[in-house]
Amino acid sequence: MDGKIVITCACTGAETTKAQNPALPVTPEEIAEAACEARRAGAAILHLHVRGPDGRPTQDPAVFRKAIGLIRAKCDIVIELTTGGAVGDTADERLRPVAELEPEMASLDCGTVNFGDEFIVNTLPTMRRFAAEFRARRVRPTLECFDLGHVHASRLLIKEGLLEPPYHYGFVLNVPGSVPYSVENLATFRGAMPEGARFTVMGIGKSSLPAQYGAIACGGWIRVGFEDNVYYAKGRLAASNAELVERAARIAKEAQLEIATSDDVRSMLGLGR
Ligand code: ZN
Repeated sequence: MDGKIVITCACTGAETTKAQNPALPVTPEEIAEAACEARRAGAAILHLHVRGPDGRPTQDPAVFRKAIGLIRAKCDIVIELTTGGAVGDTADERLRPVAELEPEMASLDCGTVNFGDEFIVNTLPTMRRFAAEFRARRVRPTLECFDLGHVHASRLLIKEGLLEPPYHYGFVLNVPGSVPYSVENLATFRGAMPEGARFTVMGIGKSSLPAQYGAIACGGWIRVGFEDNVYYAKGRLAASNAELVERAARIAKEAQLEIATSDDVRSMLGLGR
């Protein structure tokens, strides 16, 4: 370990609503404000979803372009676009923003999974197509794994030469209908990664805080934000994404870890190269 921990903020997501937390940033302006507040609180990466004028999730590159422009004018946070999109989006829709905007990072879902009563479909041919597109455009993937099989599927892509190091994984735990968060499950996912890979832990819902401690204990990185969880504590909504980032930074510092800057991430993950 290099003694630095990276905090990602997933400030909006596709499924969270203002009814769940009125402080949810939805417009490009609100998202840019939330992203830069999160940056000041210690987040080095922004995991970005955008919404259309109706507040519903969209993969329209024009909306991403607007949000990215506003963020870039205010702060240096590394931007990781979603290619997970929203439940029901086609692969073409999900991939479009990466193809048109060539961000520094983007998420790459590594398999099919239950998502509450819905499901997310990622066949191996879809994953190969995404990985090839990312590689051609020098976009660093966050290999999102909701299930242990997804970690192994990513290794298949590595074997096929479609992914290049340094590898960065995102372990998404506690999605209803998939793998619950536990230290044991996290350790199993971690053990299945290629040696030397980095990983960020995302605990959904009430597992968010335990997953942050789990990440610290296992040498991983942290993700917080309204995409994953809208509460600060039981029965108390988070006032903002930044409030969640501030706490993550505080507990990491108590563990004697240094909070990585966005430029640290660019160098650790070889972004843009
Ligand atoms: Zn997302």
